[in-house]
Amino acid sequence: MTATPSTSPDPINDPLAAVLAGIGAWHCRRFAGHRLRLGRHGAVHDVELRPALGGVLLPSPACHTGYSSHNPDDLTPTDDGTTCVKCLTRGARRRADQLRTGSGQLALDLAV
Ligand SMILES: [Zn+2]
Repeated sequence: MTATPSTSPDPINDPLAAVLAGIGAWHCRRFAGHRLRLGRHGAVHDVELRPALGGVLLPSPACHTGYSSHNPDDLTPTDDGTTCVKCLTRGARRRADQLRTGSGQLALDLAV
């Protein structure tokens, strides 16, 4: 995931924001360390946290594939490998950028 949930708002002074933040935090926990499936579709997507109503971060497909309901309950966490071509391409591009800039240097196993 590429973003972190924001801090919790004050439930006394802003109860709606507190409820939305709680919903967002719950969905973020559901998808932490997982990938997702959209509805009944078979493709497995990488997860990205994106701002939704009230600025609350919610899990969504990293490739920005839309889903008509915009309801995170229609997303299913999975440990299956990514099968979405857009997510795979995006991940490969990110790894190539990291190698090009040196921020993603791979460690060599030199133990004999
Ligand atoms: Zn995808």
